[in-house]
Amino acid sequence: MVQMNDVRMVYGNTEAEALSGVSFTINEGEFVFLVGPSGSGKTTIIKLITGELKPTSGTVHVNGYNLERIRKREIPYLRRTTGVVFQDFRLIPKMSVYDNVAFAMRVIGAKEREIRDRVPYVLELVGLENKAKRLPREMSGGEQQRLAIARALVNNPSTIIADEPTGNLDPARSFEIMSLLQEINNLGTTVLVVTHAKDLVQLFSKRVIVIDDGIIVSDGEGYYDED
Ligand code: ADP
Repeated sequence: MVQMNDVRMVYGNTEAEALSGVSFTINEGEFVFLVGPSGSGKTTIIKLITGELKPTSGTVHVNGYNLERIRKREIPYLRRTTGVVFQDFRLIPKMSVYDNVAFAMRVIGAKEREIRDRVPYVLELVGLENKAKRLPREMSGGEQQRLAIARALVNNPSTIIADEPTGNLDPARSFEIMSLLQEINNLGTTVLVVTHAKDLVQLFSKRVIVIDDGIIVSDGEGYYDED
């Protein structure tokens, strides 16, 4: 569960509010789109959820952690509850598909046996089971996106945040990626998708949180109007 209550965010070197009293709750198992123009506060919300930022005021709760009270040494555990799929993928160019995913398990100290069980499972889930030996540069944009999703999922987080997952993809591939995220949601993972892709958002009729200039201007099922 992700819960923000009256969150204000003012970056240290500025006076303007990046977020002005943002409140919402995303319950376990929900699928939510977060949309809004550039500069409206979407990245700030992601960074608050991952504990990269602390709110100037208001409260943020993420998967059992109160981010006001969290200790530095607890932050890695908070981060394990949330898998982030970055806009620029952040794949490791010299590692194979398999090793990119396995690495995410190795850094948290998983046993080799667990890695051997889990990596093929998530690669199959995203449809890359036959590409395990490839390098990222030997794959299409859509495949790289799938790999980024597999890596975000491998440590079994309760929440996945995807930042503009279809930013560089054609409409058919974009639809496939959104469908994959929906499938992952159906398996029980909470999914938050940050996107500009209005057409896709409308196609999927899920809850849509619309933010503009640091304020939530609407929050409801299937609704997204740019004006
Ligand atoms: P979005 O992701 O929707 O494009 P952001 O969350 O990145 O929006 O930005 C929201 C507001 O906060 C913008 O006005 C932006 O200029 C400002 N902002 C973002 N990051 C910083 C920063 N590190 N320092 C100062 N201002 C920032």
